[in-house]
Amino acid sequence: MSTSLPIFNATSNDATPPPAAPDESRASNHLLDSHGRVIRDLRLSITDRCNYRCIYCMDPDFRYMPKRELLSFDEYITLARICVGLGVEKLRITGGEPTMYSRLNELIDELGQLPIRDLAMTTNGSLLETKPLARWRKAGLHRITLSLDSLDPDKVKAITRTKTSADTVVRAIELAREAGFDPIKVNSVVMKDVNDNELADFADFARTHDIDMRFIEFMPLDSSHAWERSKVITADQIIEAISARHELVPIKGNDPHSTSLNFTFADGAPGRIGIIAPVSRPFCGACSRLRITADGKIRPCLFSHQEWDIRPVLRRGGSDEDIIAFLQDATWTKKKGHGISEAGFTQPSRTMSAIGG
Ligand code: SAM
Ligand code: SF4
Repeated sequence: MSTSLPIFNATSNDATPPPAAPDESRASNHLLDSHGRVIRDLRLSITDRCNYRCIYCMDPDFRYMPKRELLSFDEYITLARICVGLGVEKLRITGGEPTMYSRLNELIDELGQLPIRDLAMTTNGSLLETKPLARWRKAGLHRITLSLDSLDPDKVKAITRTKTSADTVVRAIELAREAGFDPIKVNSVVMKDVNDNELADFADFARTHDIDMRFIEFMPLDSSHAWERSKVITADQIIEAISARHELVPIKGNDPHSTSLNFTFADGAPGRIGIIAPVSRPFCGACSRLRITADGKIRPCLFSHQEWDIRPVLRRGGSDEDIIAFLQDATWTKKKGHGISEAGFTQPSRTMSAIGG
């Protein structure tokens, strides 16, 4: 991908608050949108920094947000606590690379005390060797999701633009398992002519390591804005490629809010396959997610062009009631669908790394 395209700078000075939501929202003690959906799943980005530069995410010359614009430790905790009070059941810590956040251990300690069903983290796994995974598990982190886009050493280097290898993630899987994390998921962004020839090999990888291998359709969230529909390998193509080697069995009774199509192997081998297909099979109708960026922008959708800056409310010492009202108003603006397939769709200026995947 070209690196000469404009450098994205996520900074926004627009602090216009969201319009007030109707009374039914304010009175609900939940995060409701105007299409009848309820938010149960929060993605909290705690940094936009990363030690990788994945080709589908962040250009080498990507400019980070100034540190002063990022929320403080206490602000992350306040927002998480209030969202949980408003019915959030699942919280994913993400970034950027969350393991680069200096107070991650304390953050997990605090978040682990909130009454949530599922506290998870997505990480590229590169720093896990140096981290207290058993402490995290004990503190209440339930799940770790790793990222790996190729099993070919040269390709891993080319995709991440680092010297890492698949062994880093294999080691991270071992460490996570030793610390008691189960199941362990591994995300892989599938891109045409990059790694689409490795889908069946990744299925073997899932079987060998007894992990949930999750294939994600390439989304228009890359900082180089090089996304094209022709580079997307669809869910149907992923299923076809894997089925040529292994018979897949759909897992019935999936969580209705699950964003993935899930499969086991017909021969009873360990491991599972998940496919996240926002481009070819949008799941917006069942979406129960809200995102908070590291600099305190409330994003109702990954593809939102509108985001709502809650930092001024936090910094002027807003009460819990002020924060609750702001979150409810922002949630009410969640659009019905992401519109990727609609004429006139334009990619949001924030990259996945600056939103929190
Ligand atoms: N740095 C961590 C990691 O890579 O696991 C966490 C943050 S990363 C933004 C979260 C997930 O988003 C990763 O699994 C990554 O593969 C995925 N991702 C990033 N850019 C993407 C894109 N353009 N399309 C689809 N998935 C993307
Ligand atoms: Fe970093 Fe994750 Fe983006 Fe890769 S996908 S550049 S590891 S934030």
